Amino acid sequence: MRNSALAGADPARSIVLMIESVARGAMLPYHKRKLVLIYAVMRHFAEDLRAAGWRVDYRAEQPDFAQAFAAHVAVSAPSRLRIEEQSEWGMTERLCALAHEHGLPVDVTPPSNVVSEPEDYDRLLRGDGARVTMETFYRAMRVKTGVLMDGAEPAGGRWNFDRENRSPPPKTGLRFAPRATFPPDAITRGAIATVETHFGDHPGDIGDWDLPVTRTDALAMLDDFCERRLDTFGPWQDAMVAGERAMSHSLLSAAINVGLLHPLEVVERAELAFRSGRARLASVEGFVRQVLGWREFVWRTYRCWMPEYKERNALGADLPLPAFYRDGQTRMFCMREAVSHVRETAYAHHILRLMVLGNFALIAGVVPREAHDWFHAMFVDGYDWVMAPNAIGMALHADGGLVGTKPYAASANYIAKMSNYCGRCRYDPKQATGEDACPFNALYWDFIARNERRFAANHRMRVIVRAWAGRPAAWRVAVRERARLLRERMRAGAPV
Ligand SMILES: Cc1cc2nc3c(=O)[nH]c(=O)nc-3n(C[C@H](O)[C@H](O)[C@H](O)COP(=O)(O)OP(=O)(O)OC[C@H]3O[C@@H](n4cnc5c(N)ncnc54)[C@H](O)[C@@H]3O)c2cc1C
Ligand code: SF4
Repeated sequence: MRNSALAGADPARSIVLMIESVARGAMLPYHKRKLVLIYAVMRHFAEDLRAAGWRVDYRAEQPDFAQAFAAHVAVSAPSRLRIEEQSEWGMTERLCALAHEHGLPVDVTPPSNVVSEPEDYDRLLRGDGARVTMETFYRAMRVKTGVLMDGAEPAGGRWNFDRENRSPPPKTGLRFAPRATFPPDAITRGAIATVETHFGDHPGDIGDWDLPVTRTDALAMLDDFCERRLDTFGPWQDAMVAGERAMSHSLLSAAINVGLLHPLEVVERAELAFRSGRARLASVEGFVRQVLGWREFVWRTYRCWMPEYKERNALGADLPLPAFYRDGQTRMFCMREAVSHVRETAYAHHILRLMVLGNFALIAGVVPREAHDWFHAMFVDGYDWVMAPNAIGMALHADGGLVGTKPYAASANYIAKMSNYCGRCRYDPKQATGEDACPFNALYWDFIARNERRFAANHRMRVIVRAWAGRPAAWRVAVRERARLLRERMRAGAPV
């Protein structure tokens, strides 16, 4: 596990301080699996460090971080503190302030689990109100790292294989290779017990623990993915299938974000699968685009635009988060499916996050910060830096278009085409009005109507605005009335 604060430090003259703060774990109603992951990874890492000759002061189950820090200083009398730059906005400064209270100078080392540097984003920003597109940034990262490059050219002569990576699921016969799983050892079982003791009232199930919590296991998961599952990642990247949680998605985000895997080694391993004929180029490019493109891009967006970014609400959304995001009590099959995945595993794949959970919140007009906090608390891979650009930017378009040039808004058409959900649903995906009509339809058109003026100025949305304006007036009135009723019901906490 890389940590730049340890690199170059002398094990004989250093103590590694690790603190589990119960107060920090209770700051949001974090999903239990997310807390287990963090405690289990920390405890295994402490063992690895000891085995490598480091002295570790591990303070488990502490009520409060600052008190535990003070207790360490009292016992060990350190002369300075060395920390890695924190991913969460403002956290490095808070740690420095705490150290200064104890008279300790601080050395801050660069973050370890990103590939890009600030200049990679900043040099693409030009002029007032400028924005960087993911595509421009991604190509620059490919050139910089040489990943999937043949000299100065992209492998296969194209930067983008998106067209090949959007297949809807066939009606029958789609099977996915099972993913590697990692049952809990004694240390992980101890972490599970800690979480049940201190966070028993938090949401989510711990279930059968199956995620890697050591670097060795994370590498095994990466290898398994690249050998057996990466080849089919591309075609079904955007598809949704009832009962299928992982499909061909990697489930590597938790391991990458917590520091068990470095994003560059992940994409290099994926490239090797292509170069050795184990996975098709379209799949590997699609995967590399997610890690070297999207992941790096959201990191840099966060670093560049915080702290005001998290408060953005460009579309003036005002609906409180509907109750079914928490309890799963809804008649909408797609939403039940997505929420049940999250409650049971703290995971849902990207299209469920974006086109079901996020899309619904966008078109219904959910307050961005409320949606953000729910996503942040409930996902095993959720951290401030990655959640803000994904939830507030990509899903809710509340950043005014910094992350996406147009909102990822869709009616039931999209879900009906890309999934096998609608046939299992009590709603009709073809109807927009009436009690049986799919709520996505009325809310989608109402969303267009509410933002008509803004979207008319967006060349990628103009055609939809025209389509709305071209519908019969009576239909438009009925659709808006249905949307109003749905929003009213959600406000009142009634089922939808
Ligand atoms: C509303 C919303 C919330 C999200 N919250 C998170 C989050 O808290 N943490 C998180 O890591 N990702 C988040 N994502 C991005 C993406 O959905 C997840 O990274 C992905 O679903 C993780 O599952 P996986 O490892 O199976 O990914 P795969 O589909 O296998 O993708 C491969 C890898 O690409 C990276 N990746 C892909 N898309 C993104 C992205 N948009 N931002 C950052 N990394 C990306 C991840 O490291 C992921 O492991 C969110 C997306 C949306 C729309
Ligand atoms: S009909 Fe609508 S609510 Fe039901 S599964 Fe399809 S998109 Fe979801």
